[in-house]
Parts: sequence; C-alpha cells; structure tokens
Amino acid sequence: MSTNPKARAWVQVRADALRDNYARVRDHVGLGTGVLPMVKADAYGLGAEDVVRALTPLDPWGFGVAAVSEGVRLRALGFEGRIVVCSPVPPEDVGEAVRSSLQLSISSVDALRHLGQTARSAGRIAEYHVDVDTGMGRSGFDGRNAAGWVAAAAGGVDGARCVGCCTHLHSADENGETVHEQWSLFSAVVDQVVAERGPEASEIVVHVLNSAGVFRASEVARSVVRPGIFLYGGGIGPGQPQPQPVVSVFSTVGLVRSVPAGTTLGYGSTYRSERPERWATLCIGYGDGLPRALSNRGCAILHGTMVPIIGRISMDVTVVDISDVEAVREGDVATLIGSDGSAARTIDEVAAEAGTISYEVLTGLTSRLPRVWTDQDP
Ligand SMILES: *Cc1c(COP(=O)(O)O)cnc(C)c1O
Repeated sequence: MSTNPKARAWVQVRADALRDNYARVRDHVGLGTGVLPMVKADAYGLGAEDVVRALTPLDPWGFGVAAVSEGVRLRALGFEGRIVVCSPVPPEDVGEAVRSSLQLSISSVDALRHLGQTARSAGRIAEYHVDVDTGMGRSGFDGRNAAGWVAAAAGGVDGARCVGCCTHLHSADENGETVHEQWSLFSAVVDQVVAERGPEASEIVVHVLNSAGVFRASEVARSVVRPGIFLYGGGIGPGQPQPQPVVSVFSTVGLVRSVPAGTTLGYGSTYRSERPERWATLCIGYGDGLPRALSNRGCAILHGTMVPIIGRISMDVTVVDISDVEAVREGDVATLIGSDGSAARTIDEVAAEAGTISYEVLTGLTSRLPRVWTDQDP
C-alpha cells in the first residue's frame, strides 16, 4: 500500500522497478546492442520527464517518441542525446524537428526531399531513419519492392543523411513465426540498403524489436532495440517473461455507508442491494482514467481483500461493496492497480477485464492523478 500524498487518488511509479526492467532488456540483448526506450505519449502515461531522468544514468542509446512536440519537450528538459521520432510527422512539423536535432523516420521520397530542403534552408544536416513496411502497414517504404526505392531512400539527399533503417513488428506478443517472416523480408531490404551505402553503411543502425520482440527473437536484435511496455510493467504475451510491476493506482475512501436491501446505485441504477450492505465510495472515476468498462465487473483491494465494483463507474467516483470487510473507514486507501498484502491486480488483469490492453489503461490515466515517484534518486 502507498502513503496518501494528500490527494483523492494518485498513480505511484516505482523508479527502481523501471530501471530493473530496463536492465533485463539490456542484459537479454547484450551489451553490443543499444536500447532506445520508447517514451511516447508521456512515457505511456508515467511522465516522460521522470522516466528520462530515471533511465538516463543507465546510458540508453537514445529515446524514442512518436511526435515532434514530444521530442522538443525532451530537448527543453535538457536531454542532448539521440531522439528518434518513430511515427510519420506532418510536413509542418519538420522545421521544428530539424531545429531540435530530432531524427525522423522517413516513409516516402517526397518526405525525404522535404526534409532535405528544410534542413538546407536552416543550414543544417538532418539525420533520418528509413522506415520499412514489412506488414504493419501504417508507415514505411514497401519492403516487398525495395529495388524501386532503395537508392532514393538510403542514398540521402542534400541536407539529409541516412543513419538508420527500421521496421516494426505486428504480432510479436502473439507468435514468433510472424517475427521471423517480417525479419526475413526486412533483412533482405537491409542488405540492399547496405549495398547502396557502400563504405558508409557501417554508420547505419538497424532496429526492429519492440518489448515482445526482444524476448521472442533477440537473435534479430541488431544494433538497437525499442522497448516500451515491458519497461513500464506491462506483460508481453502468454508464456513470456513478466516485468516487475511499475505502476500502481490508489484512491481514498471518501464515504462509507450502510444501505438497506433495495437501494439502487449509480447512473442507470444498474445495481440494487439484495440485502443490507456496506458500500464505500472511492474518490476515483473514469475522469481519472479508471476504465468505465469496469462498471459492475472490476474490483479494488481494501485491507488486503478484493472488493467488487458495483454499479456504473462515474466520472469522479466509484462504489465498491465492502460488506465483507468490516474494518474499512473513510480515508482508507484502496488499490485499483497494484498490490496490498497478498492481493494483487496487475495492469494486464485490469485491462483484460476492461476489454482492452495495458497500453490503453496506462495512457488513459489522466492528468488529474498526480504521479508519485518512489525511489527516484538511488
Ligand atoms: C510504441 C513502439 C514501440 C514499443 O512497443 P512496445 O510494445 O511498447 O514495446 C517500438 N517501436 C515503435 C515504432 C513503436 O511505435
């Protein structure tokens, strides 16, 4: 359990567990491979500034983001190392990317020309990665037809220099077979990129693996890997190594009441007490990011005991049935994600109950919840 930071509800983040998960990735791929932690979407909702502060002493190869604004923010925090923008960006953002020395991933010859032009007029040389589509379909040059674009894409243009070549896996959390299919398509493209670059090819980093890929197929790790969810405590598929939990979500009990049989609860009155019951109103709702899909099905932990969420989750409050836990008092701390005594609720369990994935639960935690870091400065 957590101590109350004088908030109605909060997210607790364990810096030591984050660093341990990072070290497991690094040790698994070996010291010859760089680690590019993905810190997009405010580091999956944990807070990019604190994640970067926690991981920088471990000397990552760089940090990965999805938007130029996210990279600019890391620069404003003083991070001077490599920042790779791993998603396509709108043309209007390219100038800012160049000024902030962000490395873009490039998916078309037009985008590359625009990058070169923008860099030239800023008097700079931009660095970029050739993004190769091997089945994800949302970005990248088509890996099935590399002969058609490899010279233009990897050769560079005035003002822009190719420093990397990457692809993204679509099903590494589900099976290893597709990883090897994607890898064999990708590695044939990499060979052509290397041939195109000749003696300069040694400058190019090759990166493929997300968290699930790291543990499923580390033999294709190559120069750099791009883990995200595993660092933040999310599972990477059945039968795979489990990360240490990093994130917990707590809320205080705002009200305890005893109700007679026949009392209705919440919007739509979807719950009605069958007998006299005790209810606790928790100061957390979907406005904090507690998925509303947990209405009448999720649970919380109070005094080490699982108690069911009853009725619909509201924007600001959620009610649990505490008839079996007599000790509950107003001001007590309930655990929505995390552990209390021997009872535990992982983000993957909560996500499955809500019909979604850990990524969406984490990134859905809103700014109304303070992020309380523990063990940030070892
Ligand atoms: C988000 C992302 C990752 C990290 O994926 P995880 O499943 O969180 O490890 C890696 N590469 C790219 C291109 C991404 O967008």
